[in-house]
Amino acid sequence: MQDPYDEIEWSSVHRLHSINHEHTFGANRDGWAWGNENEPGPRRRFQTLYDRGIRHFALSNYYPSKPTYPLRAFFSDVPADAIGCPNAEHATPTGHFCSVGSTFATHPETYDGSWGELFDDILGALQFPNGGGVVINHPRRSDIGFETSRELLAYDPRVLGIEVWNHRGVVLPKYRARGNATALWDELLSAGIHTFGFFNPDYHRAWDCPRAGSLARGRNILLVDETTEEAAGRAYREGRFYGALDGSGLAFERIETTGRTVTIETNQPAAIQFISRGETLRTTWSTATAYTIEDVYPYVRIEAHDDTGERIFSQPIVTETSSAC
Ligand SMILES: [Zn+2]
Repeated sequence: MQDPYDEIEWSSVHRLHSINHEHTFGANRDGWAWGNENEPGPRRRFQTLYDRGIRHFALSNYYPSKPTYPLRAFFSDVPADAIGCPNAEHATPTGHFCSVGSTFATHPETYDGSWGELFDDILGALQFPNGGGVVINHPRRSDIGFETSRELLAYDPRVLGIEVWNHRGVVLPKYRARGNATALWDELLSAGIHTFGFFNPDYHRAWDCPRAGSLARGRNILLVDETTEEAAGRAYREGRFYGALDGSGLAFERIETTGRTVTIETNQPAAIQFISRGETLRTTWSTATAYTIEDVYPYVRIEAHDDTGERIFSQPIVTETSSAC
């Protein structure tokens, strides 16, 4: 069994709310390409993230694709508990990639090289050797299907996974509702390809900007012993986080695997779903439930939602040795 949560002390763990794909600047720090009289500037965009509970800011600004790090170099009055993380969104003809924990910067709009060379550059500039890695952004919006995902993920174990939720891709009509990649995630996991799922707004506007049509949704809740940059990077590397689509008032209080039995607790009643191969195997309305994974299922992941629209997504618990990592 590969359970990314197996070493967590749930009674004392910190939940560090993070985004790894979100923009606060337009085309660059000084040129606010998306700004106008209805669009607040970068400091206001940063503030709306903070007001919504984000404390770990792996901002993914481009172009140039250069880390918005340290935060104090870019924003005034940064709150003491706001943690920065080098990251940027890099583009190749194959797709867009975030570089969580990497100080690598590119200046042209498209990286001058192959995706493999880009990954080498990103991974060669990791701030902490045990933290962060590459994330495949909005795979459906980029037409990255199963085969290409498999190739990208097999390149290096530090290619961490796919962006399962890209809120901008869900809500903007031009992206034709291609921001939700849960089906691709299940397809990869069903084939034994171990990939973590990432959840992000990818907003280019303030979180609560009315012109964007809805509140931004999507965050990664990092489960850390201490709220430091290094611990956050390790949580990303090791999959010690879960995705959330809103606040998130709904929380996993325990995800524990013993043998093939997975025990789940939530902080309030929720519909707890066990999912494998794209099927919901069981749904229980409760704050605590356990499920024993049958031999035929190569993994299980857990989603839970409450009646206010909060939805949380565990990382997969893999029952077979994966061929991909
Ligand atoms: Zn983006």
